[in-house]
Amino acid sequence: MLNIDKFSFKCPCCQGSQYRTSVFDSSIRNPAGAKCIFCKSDMVMFKRVEQQIRSIHTHQN
Ligand SMILES: [Zn+2]
Repeated sequence: MLNIDKFSFKCPCCQGSQYRTSVFDSSIRNPAGAKCIFCKSDMVMFKRVEQQIRSIHTHQN
């Protein structure tokens, strides 16, 4: 299972950051199946910056 906690999402259509994920919506381009809750577009996924990843990792331990 993809750990989407390490990624941020942004809607390319309305620039929103609110999304939901569904396995039924997952694809090669959108492995997390994240869809914008406003316009139902596929969200664009990008990695968070290194510092944030490290802080999340520390938090989990
Ligand atoms: Zn949108």
